Amino acid sequence: MSIYPCDVHHSRVVGPLSAAYFGLLRGADRSGRKLRLCSTCLDAILTSDGSHWASIDGDGQSQDFDVCTACQANVQPPEVAYPLFVTVYRKGSDRVDYYGNYCQSCAERLVERYALT
Ligand SMILES: [Zn+2]
Ligand SMILES: [Zn+2]
Repeated sequence: MSIYPCDVHHSRVVGPLSAAYFGLLRGADRSGRKLRLCSTCLDAILTSDGSHWASIDGDGQSQDFDVCTACQANVQPPEVAYPLFVTVYRKGSDRVDYYGNYCQSCAERLVERYALT
C-alpha cells in the first residue's frame, strides 16, 4: 500500500501513486495544488479535462488558444483568459507538461473540481 491515499477517490492503493501539479493563473494570482493520484484517477482526468489540453514540447513552446479549451468561448482580449499548466509525473514514465487556456466560468469550475487554492 502507498503511504498516502489518492486525492481523488480518497483510498489507499497498492503500489506507488502518480502526481499531477495544477497551476492556474488568474491575473496576478496563481492557484495550484499537487494531487496524488492512482493510475485510474489520473487516466480519468487525462481523458476528461485533459483531453482538451495540449502537451508542451521539449522547446517549451505551447500552443496558443484563442478559445476556451473546454467550452470554445472566445478568450481573446477584452475577454480574460485563465491559463492552466499541469505537470504529470506518472509512475514509471517521463514527466509530461500540459497547457490549457480557460474562460472565467470554466476556470472557476476547475478551481472547484480540483480544490485549487
Ligand atoms: Zn484514485
Ligand atoms: Zn470555457
